[in-house]
Amino acid sequence: MMQALRRIKRIIALRERRCMVCGDCFRPQQTAVLLCNSCRRQLVQRTGGFCPRCGLPHALESMPLTLCSSCISTPPPWLSLRFYGLYDGLLRRIIIRYKHTPDLTLHPLMGHMLCQALRLRPFSPQEKPDVIVPVPLHPARLHMRGFNQSYLPARPAAVMLTVPLQKNILRRTRYTSAQTGLPKEERRRNLRDAFEADSCVRGRNVLLVDDVMTTGATLEHCAQALYHAGAQQVHAVVAARTPPHAHRQTA
Ligand SMILES: [Zn+2]
Ligand SMILES: [Zn+2]
Repeated sequence: MMQALRRIKRIIALRERRCMVCGDCFRPQQTAVLLCNSCRRQLVQRTGGFCPRCGLPHALESMPLTLCSSCISTPPPWLSLRFYGLYDGLLRRIIIRYKHTPDLTLHPLMGHMLCQALRLRPFSPQEKPDVIVPVPLHPARLHMRGFNQSYLPARPAAVMLTVPLQKNILRRTRYTSAQTGLPKEERRRNLRDAFEADSCVRGRNVLLVDDVMTTGATLEHCAQALYHAGAQQVHAVVAARTPPHAHRQTA
């Protein structure tokens, strides 16, 4: 009986699965996400050489985490940004597919990348979030897309940090035109007063979650709304951070 069970388990372990990104067949490893070796190699996490406040990459990945000049002179309203990788290559293609087609199979991968970004730089006890808040979509856009690209991937992060995930704390107060292709100043104008946060965040540390940070205008307005409602600290985590000088090409 035991032998038969062992044999069945071995057959299941050896069964080929399909890569959730490219669809190729492969033998799965003992990991949470199903990626073939080729996609795994292309989706390498950025582990160093960036500004810890805004994620701006330094020239070399081997450089230590140091503040960029922009964050020293005019820091963003959030206190730290965690991200999995730069919005480029396969990561960029995955996010575009995730956002623009209802490809729900990518939720676990997006969630996995957020968790990895959080594991790389654990929060100190003073910073530890009390609540995780996804960047909201306007109800009309949510209806069009069918899901919020920030909410579902935030669930594994909430489980990992044992912090509640609350999607109703931050709301869009008005419909804004799509941010795609807009330069930074126009994004800012487009988003002015577009968010409102619930006063239940008073005195609490908030972790904001989004899929990608482009110019930072969305995170900026969300963080400001949270502080306006009394949040003590706002930190942010995204799957991808746009490299500098690439804003116009991003989705
Ligand atoms: Zn693949
Ligand atoms: Zn910076």
